[in-house]
Amino acid sequence: MPRPPLPTIVHLDADAFFVSCELARRPELRGKRCAVGGGPQRGIISSASYEARAVGVYTPMPTARALRVCPDLILLPHDNEHYAKTSQAMFDLCETVTPLVQRNSIDEGYLDLGPCACASVAAVEAKVRGLVARIWEELQIPVSIGIGTSLLVSQIASKLRKPRGFVTVPVGEEAAFLAPLPIEQLPGIGKKTAEEVKARGLRTIGDVVRKTDSALAGILGRDWRQVAAWARGIDTRAVETERAAPKSYSQQETFLEDRAFGDFEDIERGLKRMLDELLVKLRADGKRARTLTVKVRYPDFTNSSHAQSLPEPSDLERPFYPLVGDLLRAAWTRRRQPLRLVSVRLSGLTEGPAQLDLFTSANEAKHRHLAAVVDRLNANGKKPRVYHGYDL
Ligand SMILES: [Mg+2]
Repeated sequence: MPRPPLPTIVHLDADAFFVSCELARRPELRGKRCAVGGGPQRGIISSASYEARAVGVYTPMPTARALRVCPDLILLPHDNEHYAKTSQAMFDLCETVTPLVQRNSIDEGYLDLGPCACASVAAVEAKVRGLVARIWEELQIPVSIGIGTSLLVSQIASKLRKPRGFVTVPVGEEAAFLAPLPIEQLPGIGKKTAEEVKARGLRTIGDVVRKTDSALAGILGRDWRQVAAWARGIDTRAVETERAAPKSYSQQETFLEDRAFGDFEDIERGLKRMLDELLVKLRADGKRARTLTVKVRYPDFTNSSHAQSLPEPSDLERPFYPLVGDLLRAAWTRRRQPLRLVSVRLSGLTEGPAQLDLFTSANEAKHRHLAAVVDRLNANGKKPRVYHGYDL
């Protein structure tokens, strides 16, 4: 007899990760108001203990303001190397449960327990509780868990009862689970968009389901179909392990506040930083890319993008860098409108090292050597972080 379907997608999200990493090696600080961040240059809180959050410290918050609302705040300097090691150890533990682990960021990711062939929801939950206990025992990192049938549902579930949350959404109850939640719980609906769509009658995720298609299209613009599917708990994305060969490499940033055309140079710099990070991954995977795409999203959720291809695929910054500003300009056609999100994507991937011609090879080899050195420095977590485009 076929097994009944089970919720096997798990979203694991460490609680106050940077602070938790610090508390793991300085347990005397447990229960105190502390935060990571706030060096002289980066005067921003990047992680705050729940005790500090209780008195109004949040991330990202300027350190000066955090110290005003919480004068006894204990500030801890960033230690990227320590956080990266802890993250690796945490995901290694995840991989002892299932081979299907997708890392989304340093402190959160998805697991698919499908391969575990659990017989019941209780068996799925027991496996996950075992993992949570091991992460706590071995690393002293508290995590929150969401379990569901899709990435979307598990991700929303894990955020509901932080810290140390554990929420399971049974099969078939996805839409009912989502319905009462505020609209901004859906991915891509930021604070500002949420205000706009709430004013037009979309306060909860359930409101999306109740609206007609044409009303939704009027409120949400081109993305309405995606939002309508999500609101019903429909999400067909699968957990992607790093072992699966990617077809493209992309990264996006949603701004805290929408950015106007006057911020063009700043946005361009941000795109180059994202491109740097993609190229590090590309090189680590032994790939080259031919096409660079820049996408922008306006506050009404409409997107616009522009792409350009190189004559030869590359894994170096040099040929891609000059394209970034032009592509941003070409994509940003509605200049009077601010942007809520930008992304960069590298596609047209080829395996293996570049074929160098005789004239460019010496220069190319020099840049490749420098890129490798920088990748190693970054991998070792040496500070300050080196960005290829600025330092080569
Ligand atoms: Mg987290």
